[in-house]
Amino acid sequence: MSQTTRHIVIVGAGHAGGVAAATLRQTGFAGAITLIGSERHPPHERPPLSKELLAGAIPVEKTYLRPAAFYGDNRIDFRPGETVTAIDRAAQRITLASGNVVPYDNLLLTTGARARRLSLPGADHPRVLYLRDITDSLALREHLNAGVRVAVIGAGFIGLEAAAAARKRGAHVTVLEIQREPLQRVCPPEIGQFMAALHRRNGVDLRTAISITAIVDADGALALHLADGSTVAADIVLAGIGAQPNVELAQAAGLVVEDGVVTDEFGRTSDPHIFAAGDVTRHFNPLLGRKIRLEAWQNAQNQAIAVAQIMAGGDQPYAEVPWFWSDQYDVNLQIAGAPEHWGRLIWRGGPNDKAFTVFAARDGIPIAAITMNNGRDMRPARELITRRRPIDPTQLADVVVKLQDLAKEIGRG
Ligand code: NAP
Repeated sequence: MSQTTRHIVIVGAGHAGGVAAATLRQTGFAGAITLIGSERHPPHERPPLSKELLAGAIPVEKTYLRPAAFYGDNRIDFRPGETVTAIDRAAQRITLASGNVVPYDNLLLTTGARARRLSLPGADHPRVLYLRDITDSLALREHLNAGVRVAVIGAGFIGLEAAAAARKRGAHVTVLEIQREPLQRVCPPEIGQFMAALHRRNGVDLRTAISITAIVDADGALALHLADGSTVAADIVLAGIGAQPNVELAQAAGLVVEDGVVTDEFGRTSDPHIFAAGDVTRHFNPLLGRKIRLEAWQNAQNQAIAVAQIMAGGDQPYAEVPWFWSDQYDVNLQIAGAPEHWGRLIWRGGPNDKAFTVFAARDGIPIAAITMNNGRDMRPARELITRRRPIDPTQLADVVVKLQDLAKEIGRG
């Protein structure tokens, strides 16, 4: 850390912002920390918002990273409900919506992402909802009661997790997905088909390869018009059609932005006094050898830790195999890696088994893995992917050969 870093300002008090503030203190940064976020809630985790919080299984406070008092107790000037409107890079200061100006020595952008909005006639209806923050989750939960008809647009993680929570609460659920299979941004088609069958078994009317042309309010009931001429009746609509990074501040300040604030593996942006972490970054991942943008818990947590340590004088890059998980009904799905193409899968077990694991490989080297109710395979699978060494696919597919042993062998080699 430079001798002149006396004040670090963090813009965005979501998961990454909160973790970064705490890490700066834990790492011994003794200067001033200001943490500014537009939400009213203290920094929190998002996974429960589309699972336990939505299903009504936990109170809001359970999603908080730390109790609200933590920030004051640790000399972190946490300012909830405040929006940053501009960054003046030359003067090293930011402006808030209130008109207040805050100077910084180093700035960390953890502005996250927001839900993509539907763009079709009727999409502005007040019962067309989104799910991104705590307020959204609580508002949606109000509607999820027995017998309510919910139309979910999009079968990504948001759509599917919300569908599972809605079924738990006794709602009738229709899921409408534009792609041929669910989860196509993160999974191969075979896993999409497995998840589609899971939802159908649990009573969801899941329709894929559809296109919605309009949402019409007919005397209080909503009708979703599809391009094939059919309609879906609903009391409420949830659109889970992707997220987009909150890059506007960075863009207006002239930082390099490519669908995400561009950073290197240390979280450095194109301005030496400005760093970024979390969903908003398109960061270089040394293990993948390319820049990537991730909207997931692991990245919000671990990239924020790594970048905060860098800001406090560390020198370790953020280099991890991307990892995601989801819980739907009685299924735990975990994904390691983010391949651009899955190709032919190597199966350990099959979709009719209670638990199974699949690998994707390039030139014999494992590049991604998915475990289905098979979480204990995840750690060795990640290790195998991290090592980047070729492995005999017959060994990988042989359930008698333990992945732990393969990982150990590769580690020794
Ligand atoms: P997502 O993963 O991008 O999935 C959205 C799906 O909706 C895509 O398949 C998309 O197809 C489809 N879609 C887009 N427009 C549509 C339309 N008009 N009609 C029907 N389908 C449409 O996004 P998400 O589920 O909203 O989640 C947002 C982000 O949060 C994602 O990055 C997600 O991975 C992350 N998240 C992660 C978790 C987890 O890790 N467990 C949980 C929740 C959210 P196209 O690809 O063709 O646009």
